[in-house]
Parts: sequence; structure tokens; C-alpha cells
Amino acid sequence: MIQLPPPLNPPVRTLMGPGPSDIHPRVLEAMGKGTVGHLDPYYLRIMDELQSMLRQVFQTRNPMTMAISATGSAGMEAAIVNLVEPGDPVVICVNGVFGGRMADVAERAGGQVTKVEKPWGQVFTPDDLKPALHAARPKLVGIVMAETSTGASQPIPEVSQLVHDAGAMLVVDAVTSLGGMPVEVDGWGIDVIYSGSQKCLSCPPGLAPVSFNQRAVDCVLGRKTKVQSWYLDISMLASYWGQDRVYHHTAPINMTYGLHEALRLILEEGLAACFARHQRNHAALRAGLAALGIQYAAAEGCQLPMLNAVRIPAGIDDAATRRQLLERFGIEIGGGLGPFKGQVWRIGLMGYAARPANVLVLLCALEQLLAEQGYAFAPGSSVAAANAVYAQG
Ligand SMILES: *Cc1c(COP(=O)(O)O)cnc(C)c1O
Repeated sequence: MIQLPPPLNPPVRTLMGPGPSDIHPRVLEAMGKGTVGHLDPYYLRIMDELQSMLRQVFQTRNPMTMAISATGSAGMEAAIVNLVEPGDPVVICVNGVFGGRMADVAERAGGQVTKVEKPWGQVFTPDDLKPALHAARPKLVGIVMAETSTGASQPIPEVSQLVHDAGAMLVVDAVTSLGGMPVEVDGWGIDVIYSGSQKCLSCPPGLAPVSFNQRAVDCVLGRKTKVQSWYLDISMLASYWGQDRVYHHTAPINMTYGLHEALRLILEEGLAACFARHQRNHAALRAGLAALGIQYAAAEGCQLPMLNAVRIPAGIDDAATRRQLLERFGIEIGGGLGPFKGQVWRIGLMGYAARPANVLVLLCALEQLLAEQGYAFAPGSSVAAANAVYAQG
């Protein structure tokens, strides 16, 4: 007799960390539909629709817009390995974990990488970039729009102008921003952008939407060396996603169903309404945390709506509080990374997770856990403050 493990029975969780975020039930339902072949005419139609919806969400007309079959980090890798040839000068902006990861990827691709650094929680101004652009004369500049490790929101348009004036291409990490705040690929002149299915798109991890403009495509087609990654070479992927439909790899069919439904949900709600919903829930959470004396880690004026990185109050046990949130309330929030480890909680309000039920239950639960640890605050004040924001509509 073979001893089988029991069938899967995952606990019900409310995912309010840095990702994955809550999955919309309609997305899970779509993923359970029957699998077709990856060259089936039905699937080819789904791919076309997916590309068209991705263009709307990215706000671009780029033909080379598709989903890489892997997580957000593969989107990052695809952006970098396609553009960077050994010896190419590259500038990467680093003010958190993900900027650091992009620099690592660029170095592995053989780039001559100059890192421009800012303290965690701050964002880059054009003046921060000028010296490096002047000295390095880079082929491309990489920057993270929503730094999930710090909760900081990087303005893109002014940086884009400067990067293009210096003759470089702009690569933007929109893994956490896409679907939660405006991302205007064409309007802001972004040359290459990548995202992930598991943050504000309300979809499980597994796909990485990317978009390359004509300048970036020309750069890839004009390479002197082959793209170092076979799997992520977009010139070959383009033959699969484009008219030719040349077999490249077997697409994750049911993940594509999920992302297809996730994009339908965003476009059905409307981009502006979707961003406003993220802002409203962020404002309510922020007011509730302020009533408890809890401060944001990112600088004033550049705090992300979908990722609330906040300082853990003195005397409160980081790990125990997060464990209790999970065990007693089924709520997952994130801890800090790197220099923020033990200092910061990362509360996600991403996609389907950005809703009043989540904000209010989290505040109630947090009040209970903080009170148990002897933290002083006015009971009920966080929920009242959040409700005052919701009352404004
Ligand atoms: C989550 C994240 C990534 C990596 O995405 P994975 O899906 O974990 O591979 C990259 N950049 C940012 C800003 C992220 O938040």
C-alpha cells in the first residue's frame, strides 16, 4: 500500500503582503477551464485578445507586447538580456531590493553597470541621475517605478525626458505598479517595461507582461551577439506571439486564461476607477494607521497606494505579530527586507486585495494584537479614522 499525502486543502488567506495578492474568484474560475493545445485556433485567439488587453493596460500601441511564461523576475531578465550585450554601459537606479536585482541581472548579462544609489524609501530626481548619465553614456537606464521593498513611488516622466536627452533607452520595472496606478508606456516614452501577474493584476504568479517599443526592438534585431538566454529571446518569442505562430515553448495555457480574465476585470472596472479604488483604500488604511501612531517608511509625497511600508512601533514584536495575524485572522502581511528587516511591515493593497473589507479587518485585528502587547492607543480609533475616509466617498 502506497501512503498518499492527503488531497490539497489550502487554508483560506487574505493576502495583504507584497505579493502574491488576493486572487479574484473569476480568475481562479477561468484557470479551471479545459486546457486546449497551445496552437489550437481557440488559444491563438485568446493570445491575441490578451495582447490587445495588455496594450490597453500598459497604455501603448507597441506590437511587441506579450506575456513571458514565468514570474516578474523573468520579465526583468527578458528586458535586460535582450538589450544588453557584453561591454555595454548600463545605469541602474538602486533604492531598494528590486533595483539591486536589476543591477545584478545587468552585470550577469555582461553590462558595464553603474549603480546610482539613494537611501531606501527615497526616490530619484533628474539631478541624481545627471552625473552618471554624463560619465557613463549608457545604452540604457533601468529604474523601478514601485519599489516593493520600501513602498516608494518613483515618478517616471521627468526621468524619461532626461534619459532620452542623454541618448539612452529607459527600462521600467512596473511589476507592482501595473494595475494599481497609472502606467503610460507611450505617453511617458518608456522603451521597455515589464510587470508580473501576481501583484495588482489579481492573478497568481506565473506570467510576466512585457512591452518593447520600436527602438528597443531595433536594438535587439541589430545585436552583434546572440541573446544569451534562449528562453527569453524576444525575437524568437515574437515569432510565436506574432503572425507566424512558430513553436517556441509550450505556453502555460491555464495561466493565460487567468491573466485574460484578470485583464478583463481591470478593463471592465475601467483604469481610472481601478486606480481610484487603490487610492481610496490606501487613504483609509493610512488614516487608520496614523490613528495608531504608525508612520510610513517611504518619504512623504512618494508613498505607493498598493504597498504600504510602515515602521513597526517600538516594543512590538515583528515576527509574533505577523504570525498571530496569519494564525488567528488568516491575514498575511509582509516583513521588511534588507535594512528594513525587523523595522518595517509591508501591507499590500494590490488588485482584488484593495477593498474596504480587507482594510477594516486588518485594522481591527492589529488593534487587538497591539493591545495585547501593551501598546497605548485609543481603542477603535483606527477603524473610525478609516471609516471617516470611506464616508467621503
Ligand atoms: C515582485 C517584484 C519583482 C519580482 O517578481 P516575481 O514575480 O517575484 O518574480 C520584481 N520587481 C518588483 C518591483 C517586484 O515587486
